[in-house]
Amino acid sequence: MTVKAYAASSATSPLGPIDIERREPGDSDVEIQILHCGVCHSDLHQARNEWSGTRYPCVPGHEIVGRATRVGTSVKKVSVGDMAAVGCMVDACRTCANCKRGLEQYCESFPRFTYNSDDGKGGYTFGGYSQSIVVDEAFTLKVPTTLDPAAAAPLLCAGITTYSPLRHWQVGPGKKVGIIGLGGLGHMGVKFARAFGAHVVLFTTSEKKVADGLRLGAHEVVLSSDESAMQKHRSSFDFLLDAVSADHDINAYLQLLRLDGTLCLVGAPEKPLPVGAFNLLLPRRNFAGSGIGGIAETQEMLDFCAEHAIVSDIESIQIQQINHAYERMLKGDVRYRFVIDMASLAS
Ligand code: NAP
Ligand code: ZN
Ligand code: ZN
Repeated sequence: MTVKAYAASSATSPLGPIDIERREPGDSDVEIQILHCGVCHSDLHQARNEWSGTRYPCVPGHEIVGRATRVGTSVKKVSVGDMAAVGCMVDACRTCANCKRGLEQYCESFPRFTYNSDDGKGGYTFGGYSQSIVVDEAFTLKVPTTLDPAAAAPLLCAGITTYSPLRHWQVGPGKKVGIIGLGGLGHMGVKFARAFGAHVVLFTTSEKKVADGLRLGAHEVVLSSDESAMQKHRSSFDFLLDAVSADHDINAYLQLLRLDGTLCLVGAPEKPLPVGAFNLLLPRRNFAGSGIGGIAETQEMLDFCAEHAIVSDIESIQIQQINHAYERMLKGDVRYRFVIDMASLAS
């Protein structure tokens, strides 16, 4: 099947229209007509080959929500007409120890990502900036009917990427938690940390985001350029979630951790971040990382969002605005996730 999509043809070219092929759904496949696709900073990193290894043409997009249009004979999870979703992965080995624990994102033979991964047939995968996608039901999520489908799309990456580490490090009542960077991931981190009952402090470089930080659920907002405000929080945090997309001073944040506190990186800047040894040694501190989340946890997160009326704050765009949206994302000018109205692809 040939479908319309948007792709980058090189690391330096803007995204533009392209036709791509989707497979016919097999017995365990779900075909989804894509209605909304969130714009993740990872899309920009990869479209521009900032992590290296991008294959072109590159069709980004891994925050996919749409209508199931066809399902294979053995599919049980989704019926035709259901609102279904796909996140960052479309398959994994399903047999290694990590897959068996429901941690498919850490599959020992590498998960098959939604775009720019081997497709197992000599080609590579294309993401959600497209009219439709065909995915095995095991990697398809159900979108609770009470969630607005467009505002739910960013949950598939920004949502699970913040939910998973906050759960893993048991963020909750009595814990002091910092979220660093108020972008797509950061704003979901603030919402989840607040919903889990922690004391939430947002760190931002943008003075104009202070009021939004409080509205989104932070108890306190700190401008990271304000040295005395930073100093006030020294050695006091149980957990910090760093969702910054670019180069920044990680040491300024490591110093804010208490004994045995953890700073977890979810942001994936292009260049390495230097760590001063003594910021980890005295007192004993942990520097960690976390990648998206497994399929079962992603469904758990979607159901949690339905129960607690949590979605992303979005700005809907047409696919034709994607290059401008990337430029705005680079300036930190997103309130707080762009979501592509995929109907625009037909026009
Ligand atoms: P985003 O919406 O562009 O937000 C990034 C935020 O980082 C900005 O809003 C800004 O927040 C802050 N920031 C940007 N440049 C900065 C700089 N030079 N110094 C300090 N702060 C800066 O991006 P996103 O989609 O949330 O993604 C964030 C990062 O997470 C990206 O690197 C992305 O690739 C990565 N990611 C990782 C995973 C994973 O599995 N671990 C999943 C998805 C995305 P303020 O204006 O508040 O300072
Ligand atoms: Zn993402
Ligand atoms: Zn595996």
